Amino acid sequence: MSDCIFCKIANGEIQAQIIYQDEDLVAFKDLNPQAPSHILIIPVKHIENLAGAQEQDALLLGKIQLAAAKIAKELGLKDFRLVANNGKGAGQSVFHLHYHLMGGRRFLWPAG
Ligand code: 5GP
Ligand code: ZN
Repeated sequence: MSDCIFCKIANGEIQAQIIYQDEDLVAFKDLNPQAPSHILIIPVKHIENLAGAQEQDALLLGKIQLAAAKIAKELGLKDFRLVANNGKGAGQSVFHLHYHLMGGRRFLWPAG
């Protein structure tokens, strides 16, 4: 999508601190980190959010989760949190599917 900032990060139009990239997904540092390690993992394909994903995206979604675990390991994170905000009411502000991979601090559960 032409006016989507995460599509622009995926295609290199907007710079980001990319830590992993392949043909399916991109992982980069969040601009406004909420934890010592805060990485966003996005599919290259524009999908609005998890509710907008379809059956044919199953492999892609699986790849993102496996990439999250791998990246966490590479960052030395034994414990981490993986979050996808779905919809404005849940805190989604960028409407290109992304997973927040966060670690390096304690997280409360239930979350606030
Ligand atoms: P959401 O609120 O949609 O779940 O998460 C969007 C995230 O994207 C926020 O944590 C925000 O800090 C991050 N973000 C927004 N714009 C940019 C950007 O241009 N570059 C990077 N690296 N992160 C961004
Ligand atoms: Zn997009």
